[in-house]
Amino acid sequence: MKDILNKQDLENLLDNYDTFMFDCDGVIWRGHEAIEGVKDSLELLRSKNKKLIFVTNNSSTSRKDYTKKFESLGISADKGEIISSAYATATYLADIVKFPKDKKVYIVGGLGIKEEFEEKGINCIFENEFPRNVKEELKHLKPNPEVGAVVFGIDFELNYIKMSKAHINIVHNPDCMFIATNDDRVFPMANYDFPGCGSLLHSLILSTGKKPTIIGKPNHYMLDCIKTEYKDIDLKRTLMIGDNLDTDILFGINGNVDTLAVLTGVAKREDFTGSSAKIVPKYCMKSMGLLSEMLN
Ligand code: PLP
Ligand code: CA
Repeated sequence: MKDILNKQDLENLLDNYDTFMFDCDGVIWRGHEAIEGVKDSLELLRSKNKKLIFVTNNSSTSRKDYTKKFESLGISADKGEIISSAYATATYLADIVKFPKDKKVYIVGGLGIKEEFEEKGINCIFENEFPRNVKEELKHLKPNPEVGAVVFGIDFELNYIKMSKAHINIVHNPDCMFIATNDDRVFPMANYDFPGCGSLLHSLILSTGKKPTIIGKPNHYMLDCIKTEYKDIDLKRTLMIGDNLDTDILFGINGNVDTLAVLTGVAKREDFTGSSAKIVPKYCMKSMGLLSEMLN
C-alpha cells in the first residue's frame, strides 16, 4: 500500500490513470455537505481531461435527482457520469435478463428505483400507502402471477405488507427473480449510522430461504454496467476511489481495477494496514479534497 503524501506522488498517480471512479458518500460528500476541497479537485481532474464516473450504492435517488444534489453542492456532474445501484439494476434487468414486457417488477424501495426502471421501459408495481388493518390484508394476499421479479432497495417507507408481498412472490411465484440493489449493512448520516439496505434485505433472505442477486458494489454488475456504458474504458488505466473497504475497495479488487482508499468516510488507516487486514487498497490518501491543494 502506497500513501499519496506529496506533489510527486500525486503527479505519478495522475500519469497512471485516465479514468477516476468515485464512490460518493464519504468521498465526495458526507450526508448533505461536500468534503472540503473536493469541488476544486474534481475540476482539476477535468481540466487534465480525466474521465470521471460517480459510482454509488445508494438506490434511493434517481440519477436525474442526483445531478441536482451535485449541483446544490456546487459540483458539476452529468447524469451520464453517474452509475447508481438503482440504474445498474435497471440496466441488468433490461439488457442482461431482458425482462419480459408482459411482466412487472414488485419494488420494495425508493422512487430512485421506480424512475430508473420506467426510463428503461420496465413495468413496475410501486406502492407507498400505509395499510390500515395489516392482519385483515394478509388474509387476502396472494402471489401475483404478473410479478416476474422482486427488487429490494433501501425503503424509508418499509412496512409489513410490502415485505409480505415480496415474500410470497419470491416463495410461491414460479420463476420470480429476487434481486437487491445493494447489501450495505449501514449508511452514515451526520451523527450516527442507520440500518442500510442489506440489514433490511437480510430479513427477507431469512424468511424466504432464497439468495438474491445483489447488484451493488462489491459485485461485478456495476462494473459490467460501466463497461457497457463507456465502451472505450481502459480498466488498466482506471482508479476506483472509495471510503469503504467492503464495498468500494473490494469492488475494485474484484474487477482488477486499482484502488485508492480515502479516510473521509468509514475506513480508518489501521483497518487496512494491520497484519490481519484482508482488503488492502493500492493507495491511500487522507481526502480527495487534498488533490488540488497538493498540486498547486
Ligand atoms: N445506501 C443509502 C441509503 C445511502 O444513503 C448511502 C449513502 O448515503 C449509501 C447506500 C452508500 O452510498 P455510497 O456508495 O455513495 O457510499
Ligand atoms: Ca461510501
